Amino acid sequence: MESCRHLESIRQIRSAARRECSECVKIGGTWVHLRTCQKCGVTLCCDSSPNRHARKHAEGMGYPVIASAEPGERWIYCYVDDLMSDY
Ligand SMILES: [Zn+2]
Ligand SMILES: [Zn+2]
Ligand SMILES: [Zn+2]
Repeated sequence: MESCRHLESIRQIRSAARRECSECVKIGGTWVHLRTCQKCGVTLCCDSSPNRHARKHAEGMGYPVIASAEPGERWIYCYVDDLMSDY
């Protein structure tokens, strides 16, 4: 499977502490799927959601790896390299 240095640097998956987008909650927004930042552990909304908070957060942080926070999904994704990896 193709990988990148960002995905390869992940040793332990940070899982979602809460099943909600912490930014959408503040503004009364809605989301489709949830993603958890693998740097700080915050859970935010996906690219299919109107506000795309996870992508904005990744760009702001300069750290591109998120994990799906959806029940039953076990994968991480790198925004910079557009690569996904199962775990
Ligand atoms: Zn990468
Ligand atoms: Zn959001
Ligand atoms: Zn973060």
